[in-house]
Amino acid sequence: MTETFDDIRAAVRAVCVPFGSAYWQQLDRERGYPEAFVKALTDAGFLAALIPQDYGGSGLGVAAACAILEEIQHSGGNGAVCHAQMYVMGTLLRHGSEDQKQAYLPQIAAGTLRLQAFAVTEPTSGTDTSRIRTVASRDGEDWVINGQKVWTSRAEHSDLMLLLARTAARQDGAKPHEGLSVFLIDMRAAVGRGLSIRPIPAMINHHACEVFFEDLRVPAASLIGEAGRGFRYILDGMNAERILIAAECIGDARWFIDKAAAYAGERRVFDRPIGQNQGIQFPIARAFAATEAAALMVEKAARLFDAGKPCGPEANLAKLLAADASWQAADMCLQTHGGFGFAVEYDVERKFRETRLYQVAPISTNLILAYIAEHVLGLPRSY
Ligand SMILES: Cc1cc2nc3c(=O)[nH]c(=O)nc-3n(C[C@H](O)[C@H](O)[C@H](O)COP(=O)(O)OP(=O)(O)OC[C@H]3O[C@@H](n4cnc5c(N)ncnc54)[C@H](O)[C@@H]3O)c2cc1C
Repeated sequence: MTETFDDIRAAVRAVCVPFGSAYWQQLDRERGYPEAFVKALTDAGFLAALIPQDYGGSGLGVAAACAILEEIQHSGGNGAVCHAQMYVMGTLLRHGSEDQKQAYLPQIAAGTLRLQAFAVTEPTSGTDTSRIRTVASRDGEDWVINGQKVWTSRAEHSDLMLLLARTAARQDGAKPHEGLSVFLIDMRAAVGRGLSIRPIPAMINHHACEVFFEDLRVPAASLIGEAGRGFRYILDGMNAERILIAAECIGDARWFIDKAAAYAGERRVFDRPIGQNQGIQFPIARAFAATEAAALMVEKAARLFDAGKPCGPEANLAKLLAADASWQAADMCLQTHGGFGFAVEYDVERKFRETRLYQVAPISTNLILAYIAEHVLGLPRSY
């Protein structure tokens, strides 16, 4: 039987209770970072869920982490403020040296260090990661980094950053992703000494930033694993990221469905609840069906991941179906609320904006479809 993590779910819900509508509305208005919420989650041990017990974490798998993130979204909050700490961890865990793990994991588990920034996207390369231009060159005992990242979420609220950079030029004939390397950068020592961060004003309160590297010197020990193999290292992490974000979408979808069903039951127009009309009922029922189906795929992908089995197709399908289900539910919920769906006090417009992101990031819907067409269905590569 599939584990449902009922105890974890109940504990997460309890942590979320003090952080209600007013809290998230104020942060959204002020573009603030939810320090108190992140602290509460950290103190309860949830952000260390994937860290092995030997390093001070709970040693849970991705399926349990999915339950945590789903419940945060279902409560009306936003786990995106700290979710990277879960999926970024895998690269350090699987490919970091023992020294790196000892240096960082216990502190991350204890909440004295935050690893919440994952810098891949660049302004000129877009989805084509093989074309990134941020370069790290070896100089004696250091690496010297130059370049620029864009949309690096939480860069201002993280101590550490996982960075993808080129350490060898892209060569004709070689695989395009050869020559990419992953670094774990201690941003506390770097800001003002070659690293600068500029927040991007955006549709949602996601704390995404531009990050500039200008002759930033980092110690040789910042490199994770072997130089040139970085893309392979982050691929596994990307599957975890897709599964975890899919779980967040399921939580969002469930929040929209609950909210719409409650409103449809109490809002009276033409002397009866609007939920008595099939025109209102059926979209809620459809969103529910889509969500339940997507949740099964998220569960399957997480199970495969935790068993150490290949899960590329399932992780991509989970992300696609769950992001579609949450967007369908968001649209339905706004429509169910009529004009009040636009009013800030109902939270629908905020969640609507927030869940829209998952059609674009961390990977856009088109690119998932292209993956399925090529890698699952055997169709010719389209790009
Ligand atoms: C709020 C926010 C937070 C983010 N956080 C992070 C982060 O923490 N770290 C990080 O590294 N990145 C982050 N990103 C970046 C995000 O991962 C990218 O925006 C996303 O992968 C899409 O890349 P792009 O914006 O460069 O779009 P582009 O690659 O420029 O694509 C634009 C459009 O064209 C489509 N397209 C492109 N090529 C093809 C093709 N071959 N076939 C079909 N369609 C195609 C895409 O699907 C997309 O719809 C974030 C983005 C946002 C908005």
